[in-house]
Amino acid sequence: MIEGKPDWYPMWKELGIDIEKHDQLLAVLPDVYKKVYIDSQKTRPKAMNFFEYIVGDIHGIRIKELKEAKEEGKIIVGTFCLFVPDEIIIALNGIGIGLCGGTNFSNFAVEGLLPTNVCPLIKSALGFAFGDICPYHKLTDILIGETTCDGKKKAWEIMAKNKSIYVLETPQCKNRKQAKEHYIQELKGLIYKLEDISGKKIDLNNLKDSMRLIKNKRNQLRRVYNTRKNNPPPISGKDTLLVSQIAFYDDPNRQIDMIGKLAEELEQRVQKGIGVVEKDAKRILISGTPMAIPNWKLHNIIETNGAIVVAEETCTGTRYFESEFETIEGDSIDDLLEIIADRYLGINCACFSPNNNRLEDIKRIVKEYNVDGVIFYTLAFCQPYEFETIMFEKILKEEGIRVLSITTDYSSEDEEQLKTRIEAFLETL
Ligand code: SF4
Ligand code: SF4
Repeated sequence: MIEGKPDWYPMWKELGIDIEKHDQLLAVLPDVYKKVYIDSQKTRPKAMNFFEYIVGDIHGIRIKELKEAKEEGKIIVGTFCLFVPDEIIIALNGIGIGLCGGTNFSNFAVEGLLPTNVCPLIKSALGFAFGDICPYHKLTDILIGETTCDGKKKAWEIMAKNKSIYVLETPQCKNRKQAKEHYIQELKGLIYKLEDISGKKIDLNNLKDSMRLIKNKRNQLRRVYNTRKNNPPPISGKDTLLVSQIAFYDDPNRQIDMIGKLAEELEQRVQKGIGVVEKDAKRILISGTPMAIPNWKLHNIIETNGAIVVAEETCTGTRYFESEFETIEGDSIDDLLEIIADRYLGINCACFSPNNNRLEDIKRIVKEYNVDGVIFYTLAFCQPYEFETIMFEKILKEEGIRVLSITTDYSSEDEEQLKTRIEAFLETL
């Protein structure tokens, strides 16, 4: 973590942050980071220094940038799901910030507001919104929710008491023709709403530019992931996870540059045969619910037990970048929205029924990344992913693929138990 940061307290006070609570939040991060990222990794790529800097100053430099951008007329849009296209936000003079929560620190703020059996991600995200501890939330002009799962659907009603929120109604059965038509209509509603707030109009040029920009960001992430197919991989799973988590809130142009530099270094490492583990270390695919910052628990347990995470079939992994625009050519906004809809409906989230394409993705990734074992990761009380875990585990096992299913939350209480189960699983590979 970085020394000698500027004094951000005046900025946090101006934003209405609860300084005492916020101090407690930021006091935890350096120790966790050191334990997970510094103490247990020896041959990290040099380009990770940038990402370490960004996470080390998580509520500092980026907040200052956003504040300045807002003063210059940009709108700050908080999102919680991959189905809210950054391309549309950016085309309308906005900055999209992923606001999913990855810690139970913020739960204090939603006590009595949410049922106990709601998933930790929703609890955390709402906690940050209500708890006066998140400067990103303070800067947002609007939040965009979606109806991907029941928990989120209802959570937005509670969120609306605290913040202006617009809810995008995402389809549930995407293999029907009307699903795409419905999603496009919803995107038009989103455009209308953001045009109203930003005072800008969407046009062919600004939308094509933002599509090119975000496509380029995804390309750089894809390059990083491709290097992990090698044996030994040149980067750890936890470092890749950190890169992906930061990509949700950092400036896209800077991300293209810095993820690109990382990819370049990793490609060189592959050529020289430099890896972060011994050759033939056990290769793990994690598949399931997203892991928002600073949720590094599972990666850390796996990678401190001699194995290596080579891919994540999650929204903070391959689902973030795999589906891509076939073209950016179009003569009208309708043409471009159709291209955008095809790309986004190519994301195989468990909120869809049926969702066989996700199973096919997992099988393909197992082959492409030469995976020894799959760990299904489900956040507690997440029904869509729990259902799919049960269905997919059976099928994968029948095909001879080793599988372990884990349901957990953001607490550290089950770490020892998870460690024992993962050690036992690794021995079977
Ligand atoms: S898992 Fe599904 S609902 Fe959650 S962020 Fe990903 S796409 Fe959205
Ligand atoms: S992890 Fe599951 S329950 Fe939680 S928000 Fe995502 S889809 Fe909904």
